[in-house]
Amino acid sequence: MSCLRHRCHPSGSAISWLGRRVVPSVKGFAMRVVVTGGAGFLGSHLCEKLLERGDQVVCVDNLSTGQWENVDRLRGYQGFGFVEADVTTDFPVFGPVDAVAHLASPASPPDYHRLPLETLAAGSRGTENALELARRNGSRFVLASTSEIYGDPLVHPQTEEYWGNVNSIGRRSVYDESKRYAEAVSMAYRRTLGVDVGVIRIFNTYGPRMRPQDGRVVTSFITQALTGTPLTIYGAGDQTRSFCYVDDLVRGIVAMIDSDAGGPVNLGNPIERTMLELAELVLRLTGSKSSLEFHPLPQDDPTRRQPDISLAGDLLGWEPRVTAEEGLARTVAWFASRPAELIAAADSVAGAQFEGHDLAAASSGMLRSA
Ligand code: NAD
Ligand code: UDP
Repeated sequence: MSCLRHRCHPSGSAISWLGRRVVPSVKGFAMRVVVTGGAGFLGSHLCEKLLERGDQVVCVDNLSTGQWENVDRLRGYQGFGFVEADVTTDFPVFGPVDAVAHLASPASPPDYHRLPLETLAAGSRGTENALELARRNGSRFVLASTSEIYGDPLVHPQTEEYWGNVNSIGRRSVYDESKRYAEAVSMAYRRTLGVDVGVIRIFNTYGPRMRPQDGRVVTSFITQALTGTPLTIYGAGDQTRSFCYVDDLVRGIVAMIDSDAGGPVNLGNPIERTMLELAELVLRLTGSKSSLEFHPLPQDDPTRRQPDISLAGDLLGWEPRVTAEEGLARTVAWFASRPAELIAAADSVAGAQFEGHDLAAASSGMLRSA
């Protein structure tokens, strides 16, 4: 679906899909959007999509898990601005703002295990600061929440009505609970202060610009397959995830920015697969002869995950279009074009989710008990 907020009225003025008139704040641009976390994987794709359609974008990022390379690529667009700042502080964005997309947060398990307090701060103080920016400017506010809200779900597939099964004190809790608080404070701003809040719950998303060493399963498997090192399977590999290609996901975020929906709305690809199936697919697409190496399952690792995306279809007219074969092939091609980075990452991705863990010992223990 194309940009609803920008749909043209016969008079030539822009109106939203609910008929609300949108007056562009900045001359020559359709909207001025602040994207927190815009130097990261999803954020940089979102910034680019908005810039391509003629919006002005202010990216706010502290580069804790983001990349300069993403900022440099975006600098090529007229209308792009970068503020290097931590959203948990009083970050400086001046001038009118039409929408705030709040993505700033560590997102991969090794990142949030490494940055536990920073992750909690990004979800709590960071979300409050981003909401305040939206409140002051009367802007649309979109929170990038997560399927981790559902924890290790007891309901399958997960609909937005399901409240989740979350361990509030486990290692993953710094991420899960920061996002649960972020949802709570966002909804309170909507109800109490009338901020135009929309919450999206993003399920596992992959694509070019992920860091090969970020420790998430898609990046690890591709890095390992392309460098001929063993693919590290955690547990028996029968746990499931549902992987969405980044272009599809970003189309969904943009649709949410352009709508007035409050949500929460699940965004993800509903095709579910086991980690063993994913490993086989990556090996097939890369033609790699890498072996599989089994390691213990990290604490509280969700057993099954699959979004019910009917609500996104009804509210946003959104559904994913890119197959796993297509999306993974594009991602493999992107990773294959950076051999030096892959070789540098190959050692660190093995066992990335086991902080201080002797991977070799864990692995042999696992194999002995299998
Ligand atoms: P990422 O790590 O690539 O990007 C996160 C960005 O936020 C980075 O650029 C980082 O530097 C920045 N950041 C972190 N803390 C910050 C702070 N305090 N101040 C300013 N900037 C800060 O991760 P991603 O995969 O692009 O995830 C983006 C968002 O989407 C996150 O909020 C994440 O929780 C959410 N999400 C992602 C997925 C996924 O599969 N990629 C799934 C669910 C939710
Ligand atoms: N995983 C794996 N090998 C790896 C990295 C992850 O088997 O090298 C598993 C992990 O245990 C989880 C799934 O893959 O069951 C998805 O992990 P990821 O960190 O990508 O995302 P999340 O757990 O946050 O959904």
